Amino acid sequence: MKFQSLKDKLHKFFSGVLEVLFPSKIKCMFCGREIFDYEKQPYCDSCAKSAPFNNAKRCKICDCEMYDDGEICDGCKDYAKHFDRAVAPMKYEGVAKTLVLKLKNDNALYLADDMARLMSERLNQESFNFDVIVPVPLSPKSLKARKYNQAKLLADALGKIFDKTVDDSVLIKIKETKHQKNLNISQRKTNLHGAFKIQNKRAVFGKNVLLVDDVVTTGATANECSSVLKKYAKRVWVVCFARNPLKNK
Ligand SMILES: [Zn+2]
Ligand SMILES: [Zn+2]
Repeated sequence: MKFQSLKDKLHKFFSGVLEVLFPSKIKCMFCGREIFDYEKQPYCDSCAKSAPFNNAKRCKICDCEMYDDGEICDGCKDYAKHFDRAVAPMKYEGVAKTLVLKLKNDNALYLADDMARLMSERLNQESFNFDVIVPVPLSPKSLKARKYNQAKLLADALGKIFDKTVDDSVLIKIKETKHQKNLNISQRKTNLHGAFKIQNKRAVFGKNVLLVDDVVTTGATANECSSVLKKYAKRVWVVCFARNPLKNK
């Protein structure tokens, strides 16, 4: 037992030395090609041109891509949003969608840091001032099946980048809901009604909250969580890695 422990320690030590002398190749977060300037961006030049960045004209409230001259999308005009603003660096398609699914379903936990880095860069373009970071919770059943909450992984990485507290005790999911993707917009709203509950009011009372999720499709989950948070919080900003570009079509 002791010998094994010593062997593990030596292995860890020499792996660390080797990593310093010969750092492992840094790979593009989207396509896996080797990249040479990670400080500049965590993706290769080819993906810089082709990845689905959410940087066309967008809604001033929910950040979805817009195809007309207005400032606010039809979805935000028709249904009042409980969050103050939502932002996302990517559109939920192509390589960005692949990454979201890998983080969620394939135990690809290592992706969270790079994904959060893109989210932080998008947040830095805005003047959001937040005190506490809250991940969108999973139901106990989903958490048991998946073993981790991908929104919490992203929230933790953002907490490190911005040096802010991450509190996953604030919100809990108390209702098992159907998969949102199989429902239409109005069914999505009823499906989620009463699904989230606030259990730590003091942590958000009078504060500016950054709500974190991996993906936003209709925005119904972010909106439902925000309506619960807004009973106590001053402001709720939402950040996700990718959002559905076809929200209002
Ligand atoms: Zn690439
Ligand atoms: Zn909108």
